[in-house]
Amino acid sequence: MYPRVILKGTMIKKSQQKRRTSPCNYKERFFVLDTQELKYSERRPGKKPTLKGCILLSRIRCVEIVCSDVPIPCHYKYPFQVFHDSYYLYIFAPDNDVRLKWVRALKEETKYNQLVVKYHPNFWMGGRWRCCQQTEKLAAGCQEYCPEGYGSVALPKTPELQWSSYDPGQRLVMALRDYAPIGASDLPLEKDQEYVLMDSSHPEWWTVRDVRGKTGFVPRTCLLEKTASTNIDRFEWYNKDITRAQAEDLLMSEGKEGAFMVRDSRHAGVYTVSVFTKAPGSNGEKNPRVKHYHIRETKGSGFYLAERYLFLTIPELINYHQHNAAGLITRLRKPVSQRDLSQNPYIHTEDAVDQWEVNREELILGKEVGSGQFGLVLEGRWRGRKVAVKMGIEGAMSEEEFKEEARIMTRLFHSKLVQLYGVCTQCSPMCLVCEFMENGCLSDYLRAWKGHLSSKTLLTMCLDVSEGMAYLESSNFIHRDLAARNCLVSKNNEVKVADFGMARFVLDDEYKSLHSKFPVKWSAPEVIRFCKFSSKSDVWSFGVLMWEVYNEGRIPHEHSTNTEVIESLNKGLRLLKPRLATETLYLLMEWCWKEIPEDRPSFALLLHQLASLSDP
Ligand code: ADP
Repeated sequence: MYPRVILKGTMIKKSQQKRRTSPCNYKERFFVLDTQELKYSERRPGKKPTLKGCILLSRIRCVEIVCSDVPIPCHYKYPFQVFHDSYYLYIFAPDNDVRLKWVRALKEETKYNQLVVKYHPNFWMGGRWRCCQQTEKLAAGCQEYCPEGYGSVALPKTPELQWSSYDPGQRLVMALRDYAPIGASDLPLEKDQEYVLMDSSHPEWWTVRDVRGKTGFVPRTCLLEKTASTNIDRFEWYNKDITRAQAEDLLMSEGKEGAFMVRDSRHAGVYTVSVFTKAPGSNGEKNPRVKHYHIRETKGSGFYLAERYLFLTIPELINYHQHNAAGLITRLRKPVSQRDLSQNPYIHTEDAVDQWEVNREELILGKEVGSGQFGLVLEGRWRGRKVAVKMGIEGAMSEEEFKEEARIMTRLFHSKLVQLYGVCTQCSPMCLVCEFMENGCLSDYLRAWKGHLSSKTLLTMCLDVSEGMAYLESSNFIHRDLAARNCLVSKNNEVKVADFGMARFVLDDEYKSLHSKFPVKWSAPEVIRFCKFSSKSDVWSFGVLMWEVYNEGRIPHEHSTNTEVIESLNKGLRLLKPRLATETLYLLMEWCWKEIPEDRPSFALLLHQLASLSDP
């Protein structure tokens, strides 16, 4: 007989931390409860669901809601626990009704199991039970367990929005790591928890308040400030001076499902998300159309859009909705920028998509400026602008595949990406025509100016690259070979990302698998082990690039072979802190080098963090 499905739905699961060293994280999972098992899988748009875990109902020993006063660091705020074997699984439901429905159903299915007599009503956190202060995770519970209580235990007061108790205008910080107090006036910090910043006047020791209202000193380097909407004008999706009508025109001419932008609303201090959709409307709305959503701000300085998924900053909110529609008509798929369109040489042509072919007669070739894996790089002129022409070497590149991809690459346009204008296939081998960058590649530039670059310049370089990469990430485009040598410096000393996606077209075997030219020193472990590239593997490489910047162009793992690098990675070792980098910057690098890709930050988040460091 097949098991009968009882309940299914999306909730958030906290990692069970079966291994002591595994980091704590919160992931959205699709849960299915049937008469035999509780299963959860990962669902991504356009991908097959993958089963992530399965608990036999017969192993469950307690199911109950969790009563807690701690702020919950994910957007579903109603926790319950499933104790099975010797593990506690914490699941977060979107509302109390959903939570009770699951707790009741699970209790019903497990009521004849060998159950605990007592359970822990609060969380296990920071090495102790918050209910009874016991420090042994498997210690017996402290409250009688009622297998048929159907959630009748006293419900905690779970506020609608967790941050609503904060005063508007107060500064929030996040702990980058645990901190054990040294002096009596210090406060312990718990990684990833939020604190209220009370005093930041001391350069090294800041005063913060925890959720219980205790105040104390903590090292400034353990904290990152969460600023509300700062620096959104650095983001590709933000259009500052644009009216509703102009925004609609721009998005309609883009014409792509999910094309979006953030703009200032007519109401002062309010932002609007405008998004293009072809989805049928419910009451005779025109189709396709542009929908507008106000970004709402709660009194406790959290932001949300259509549903009450609360974020501390607008970039975090946009990043979330770039991956989840969550109440919007569509996910925010493609940022559209006014800045782009005025500069993009193709956008006004009718048949923009096919404009990637550069006519040889329009191309004037000049002197050689460098040479790379695909051949010589020449200075040139094309349609009145200075360009770099990358001449192909016979057999160096997979031309047919590249031509297909060039269509997409010429459509990627951002001020922090080296623009690919087009490809000239009338030359043989074909050549690439791109934006000219007067100051050459970043690694050479760093070495040439060693000792003369201010910390502000170094930070701006990282910020520039993170901006370009955040754009690639939001366009779902993977670079695959991000490194200082693949970034170029403009005549205004702006750094731009180059060679994105090109690694796929190299035919030289030495560049492939783990041969001598494979960029092992920049590669994430999952790339080295399974060739699994993603925006998160680009994030790893970005961490190495930051390291290069703060070491002024030094080669990482200078004296080690690829094999030695892999061995040290396997031991969990990482590059050391560059002398010029602050603790906070090194923490960001280490964050990029988390073993598990999902634990690494997105580029959107990195950009936000770097931007907040660059604020005076
Ligand atoms: P690689 O294949 O090793 O990544 P490239 O072919 O991208 O190298 O470039 C080789 C050299 O040519 C660079 O180090 C740089 O000095 C120069 N170069 C490449 N692209 C440009 C450009 N767009 N503008 C100016 N110089 C460039």
